[in-house]
Amino acid sequence: MIRAENVHKSFGALEVLKGVDLVVRPGEVCTILGPSGSGKSTFLRCINHLEKINAGRIFVDGDLIGYRERGGKLHELRDSEVSAQRRSVGMVFQRFNLFPHMTVLANVMEAPCGVKKEDKAEVRERALALLDRVGLGAKRDNYPGQLSGGQQQRVAIARALAMRPKLMLFDEPTSALDPELVGEVLDVMKDLARDGMTMVVVTHEIGFAREVGDSLIFMDGGVVVEQGPPREVIGNPQQERTRAFLSKVL
Ligand code: ATP
Ligand code: MG
Repeated sequence: MIRAENVHKSFGALEVLKGVDLVVRPGEVCTILGPSGSGKSTFLRCINHLEKINAGRIFVDGDLIGYRERGGKLHELRDSEVSAQRRSVGMVFQRFNLFPHMTVLANVMEAPCGVKKEDKAEVRERALALLDRVGLGAKRDNYPGQLSGGQQQRVAIARALAMRPKLMLFDEPTSALDPELVGEVLDVMKDLARDGMTMVVVTHEIGFAREVGDSLIFMDGGVVVEQGPPREVIGNPQQERTRAFLSKVL
């Protein structure tokens, strides 16, 4: 579902990604762990072309992200083509970024109706089903400000799912939440994983990585230091840097 090859990304003179490779198969949950500043968010943003990479390639479901290859050369896609690619990738951030002036239901319906111009009645049905799925059917007419952080994050997940993405990217979805609200968001993510959604999850929740992840990537300094089945990497890290990091977070 995702194939990243030798991805490089710099901001000015600062090289943030120094050749990242990643393969995520359909239905897999890939978790990414690593210290602050190691390039985790930047890498996620590259996957849906919110950041333009300087070298390497990223394929999502066989599509080269951001470019078309012709005669051995890469040509940038037009904005409309990039938007089309981006629509098939759902993203959930640390901050929920809901529209504060719109109800919960309107937030979930916004993108399919506004961006994709889908049939409103159909989208409404889908949005209501998604809100039920994340346990918030009863909150559909509330505004985001009336919800807890955990509830807002569940709405953000429903909103991303409303676009029927092939793939979901999560960037520390629980790290802005009070500890007692973390579980309800992780439960929704576990349910999604069980249902076969392909997911890349940047998280510090080691328990989630171990329980739900099919693979774990440890990033540091813009490279993948170590990867493998979560239980192996967490239980028996091979690299000193991984050991040092895990000893701080476990
Ligand atoms: P954290 O765990 O704190 O979220 P991270 O692993 O997600 O860290 P990134 O946000 O990817 O790290 O940042 C990696 C590096 O890139 C940092 O040094 C950051 O300051 C830099 N960086 C990120 N975005 C930009 C930008 N738009 N312009 C300049 N530098 C940036
Ligand atoms: Mg980050």
